Amino acid sequence: MIRITVPSLDETDFAAVRAVLETGQLVQGARLRDFEQALAQRVGVEHAVAVSNGTAALHLSLAVLDLRPGDVVLVTAYSWLATANVIELCGARPVFIDVRRDTFNMDPERLDEALREMMASRETARRVRAVLPVHAFGQMADLRAIGASARRYDLPVIEDAACALGASLDGRAAGSWGLCGCFSFHPRKAITTGEGGIVTTNSATLARRLRALRNHGLDPDSATPDFILAGFNYRMTEFQAALGRSQLARLDRLHAARRRLVERYRALLADSPLTLPAVPPGHAPAHQAFVVLLPPEAAPRRTQLIADLKAAGIETTLGTWHMPRTTYFRTKYGYKEGDFPATDAVFTRSLTLPLYETLTDEEQDRVVRALRDYPW
Ligand SMILES: *Cc1c(COP(=O)(O)O)cnc(C)c1O
Repeated sequence: MIRITVPSLDETDFAAVRAVLETGQLVQGARLRDFEQALAQRVGVEHAVAVSNGTAALHLSLAVLDLRPGDVVLVTAYSWLATANVIELCGARPVFIDVRRDTFNMDPERLDEALREMMASRETARRVRAVLPVHAFGQMADLRAIGASARRYDLPVIEDAACALGASLDGRAAGSWGLCGCFSFHPRKAITTGEGGIVTTNSATLARRLRALRNHGLDPDSATPDFILAGFNYRMTEFQAALGRSQLARLDRLHAARRRLVERYRALLADSPLTLPAVPPGHAPAHQAFVVLLPPEAAPRRTQLIADLKAAGIETTLGTWHMPRTTYFRTKYGYKEGDFPATDAVFTRSLTLPLYETLTDEEQDRVVRALRDYPW
């Protein structure tokens, strides 16, 4: 079976994890600080706070904003559910923004419209607290435009950069544009620690609060234990941090392998019935996944296509989720088809193709042949 993705793990990783296990210090040690410093340097920010997973990173980034019931966070409509769930878990309300069909990322024009409308009334204006764009499948959302809109109303931007470690826009890394950047190290992301995540920020005040919140509220700077907040246990273990550090050292190699395979997909599928994603000027994507769109008339047959490809030994899946149309958000807020026309289209037409460092050209050729020969 040609898998959707396979994590890149080698002897260096095994040795790094083994070395930690042999010391017996499994949490809150030097490996965590090492990994945080290396990652902060890579992203080009002052601080990085490692946590237990990407969802925890998002949760803490919103927790530090002290959202109150009735507050609103503007968020992309097309993402993994964690992105919107954390808003609900902080007692706030997501206002979903439709995406662009060509990049799957938050449409800055739709964001601008929503902001103009909400800011026109003082009652709703005081409720709007943050903008939460996602860098879909490793390509950055248009943070030039999104950042400008947010700045106009003095709103913080929290980047869901779960899939975008190493991606950049205008040479500036994902995770360094917003007040906070949130990364995941789940096995489907570029580098993995099993479960794991990290928050990046340039604010020392925020970093201190994030460190307290991930560790039961313990003051990270006090010599004698003191608890300054009601916190969580969102800590990353030492062996995860060692694995992350070891993986981070080969991020460029992993990117290069993925970039080459994506270029190959683009060349081999150029004149196929599939629509390939756009890379607008200035973007250097991290290629967490290669997601294409089926012809509109083939969308109703996607489940059959995925089953047929599986029978041919090729694993594929849909892109990601239309969050407002999942049962929870649909029933709570009454969303319906047509409220997010671009997300409706990309949700029903998307297909994720196999992409990982060790995917061979022969395997990729098989994927391409199966798609080109498919009786569309
Ligand atoms: C993976 C992912 C998350 C959640 O990360 P976990 O580490 O699985 O909790 C959040 N947002 C997006 C866009 C993701 O792809």
